[in-house]
Amino acid sequence: MRDDGSLGERNDVVLTGLNHKMGYRGTTNTLLTFGEGAHTPGGRAGAVGFLVGEEHRGLTYMFHMMNEARIGVGAGAAALGYTGYLHALEYARTRTQGRPPTDRDPGTPPVRIVEHTDVRRMLLAAKSYAEGGLALALYCARLVDEELTAGSSTDRARAHLLLEVLTPIAKSWPSQWGPVADDLAIQVLGGAGYTRDHPVEQFYRDNRLNPIHEGTAGIQGLDLLGRKVVMEGGAGLALLAETITATTARAAGTEWVGLAADLDATVARLGAVTATLWSAGDPAVTLANATAYLEAAGHVVVAWLWLEQALATGAQTSDFHQGKRAAARYFHRYELPKVHTQLDLLESLDRTVLDTPETWL
Ligand SMILES: Cc1cc2nc3c(=O)[nH]c(=O)nc-3n(C[C@H](O)[C@H](O)[C@H](O)COP(=O)(O)OP(=O)(O)OC[C@H]3O[C@@H](n4cnc5c(N)ncnc54)[C@H](O)[C@@H]3O)c2cc1C
Repeated sequence: MRDDGSLGERNDVVLTGLNHKMGYRGTTNTLLTFGEGAHTPGGRAGAVGFLVGEEHRGLTYMFHMMNEARIGVGAGAAALGYTGYLHALEYARTRTQGRPPTDRDPGTPPVRIVEHTDVRRMLLAAKSYAEGGLALALYCARLVDEELTAGSSTDRARAHLLLEVLTPIAKSWPSQWGPVADDLAIQVLGGAGYTRDHPVEQFYRDNRLNPIHEGTAGIQGLDLLGRKVVMEGGAGLALLAETITATTARAAGTEWVGLAADLDATVARLGAVTATLWSAGDPAVTLANATAYLEAAGHVVVAWLWLEQALATGAQTSDFHQGKRAAARYFHRYELPKVHTQLDLLESLDRTVLDTPETWL
């Protein structure tokens, strides 16, 4: 607002141009210029700003808005990964090519590609990323409700604290692995996937936005390791570990007990490595590999949600329930062990990146 209390002219914000995007071409993305001299409200070059709320509370307001937006980005990334997976699944069930490695007879007709184990591997991976990401987004959406509607103040506070820790993961994990599901969908379609005759290349392009907007993955990593897991004396991380171990305890006496034990060990190690990172005595060292920490924590959380889904199938044997069990097993066998490589790096307080000066890049 101007000194004289008037609102200035209407055109203080200038539409400089449109951005030509890699994906999301169905929506317009504008380049706006604020107060760079194109207009002179009140006789001075600039733009008119309006204070919303109280002074010096802007970042708090921004985070209030951003937190739900971050979960929304994660949900969108999971959904885009999901549709890529479903298109690839349908294609794999009809496209014929090649024969099983055990069949050397050139006279045998080619099989549908879904019969090749490598294609099933890609579909199972995509399913585990898409449905794992969706589970994470839906769980966080429930916490958004519960922090307002839970019956007791203790439960509302609990939902709030859990959400604080999970929000950077809910934003970043589906944004990282949803595009991988779409990348695998292109791979399942082979050369056809690289053409515009099929929608999977578009899903990939669209989904590539999600690790960028509403805070890049690097920023989410700094938020998680730099703020969320140390806030309130580490209460958020402790609550997450407690919530996960409540699930693993329910696996006792089921076929999932072994996977649950691995998850328990990984959760305990994540806590120990967090303490080691913060014992470094230098935040630059602690935070140097914050993105690796974010990825490791994300895999632990999604492994937990896959265990939840596996336990929820109970004794049901439909293809849907068997599919859930297969994807849970896939995630625990193929993905969760990768966390230990990242935890090894973090535990050693690795300085490779920190000590590489710009001139060596
Ligand atoms: C299609 C599209 C739509 C968008 N829509 C909106 C919108 O509606 N409203 C809106 O406000 N914005 C919007 N944005 C902007 C978006 O939020 C930003 O692009 C995003 O937050 C990243 O900021 P930046 O582009 O300035 O990148 P930069 O901040 O320049 O980041 C570049 C790189 O540097 C890294 N980096 C930056 N700072 C740090 C740091 N402190 N520590 C470690 N690494 C760092 C980042 O992780 C990234 O890898 C949109 C962007 C796109 C592409």
